[in-house]
Amino acid sequence: MTFRPAALTTLGEFLVSRGVVNLGVVGDAKHAKKGVSYHLGRDQLAADAYSARTVRDKAGLSDAASAIDVGKVGGTFEGLRALTAFLFAQCRAGAPDTADIREVIGSLDGKEVLGWSDLADHSKLIPGYGDKTHRTHTHISFYRDSETRDKVALFRRYFEEGDVRITAIKGEDWKPSLGASGASNGVLRATPDRAAAVMDRIAAETVVRSIAEVSANGENWRLTEHLGQARYMLRSDWTPLVPGGDPAVDARLTEYIERTAG
Ligand SMILES: [Zn+2]
Repeated sequence: MTFRPAALTTLGEFLVSRGVVNLGVVGDAKHAKKGVSYHLGRDQLAADAYSARTVRDKAGLSDAASAIDVGKVGGTFEGLRALTAFLFAQCRAGAPDTADIREVIGSLDGKEVLGWSDLADHSKLIPGYGDKTHRTHTHISFYRDSETRDKVALFRRYFEEGDVRITAIKGEDWKPSLGASGASNGVLRATPDRAAAVMDRIAAETVVRSIAEVSANGENWRLTEHLGQARYMLRSDWTPLVPGGDPAVDARLTEYIERTAG
């Protein structure tokens, strides 16, 4: 029978202690019927299940489940989206403590479902990777050979070390500030780090909407979504259209998500 391995019990307990809803590790009857998920162990998997195909999954295959689902963070879906954005960004950047992560499936806006897969291009998020339930929960699967390894380090970094911390969730509109020569300073990066590569350059007079305030290594950033990707804007590169932002828009978005979640 599929069981929940100790390392995922520990991760679940850590997450709950930081205000994350733990939706569980072991798959329910619906998962069991399909027989393919990382939420199932060997004895419940169909032949050639996608979650037992890689060398690492075959090597570590046991009756242990190898995924966890998480819901609201701090009581909100914005919190879940912020954590999801962090996980996507860390996987895409190849952070060492993501080495056992096989997939992350979730949403950055509560509408579009995106996935990161270790088997695909690491720099990309894949649209439509999972079903619509991932609008309101995020799935993290781990290679099966990591059954006994610690899984908390990555999450501890988010909640405790504060190298990247979401300090507020609010919508704000920005235009790029201009350099001395009149060129746009508006650049978007994949991680909140001045040294990170510039992924997009936004033309002067273009309005960009941010969804969260981010503190990273003592610097003030904003998180936005651009062409389906989480992107970071250095606060000092941008000029707000309306000082203080527009919390009313966020309230409506949250309401919409709550309504469509069921
Ligand atoms: Zn899941």
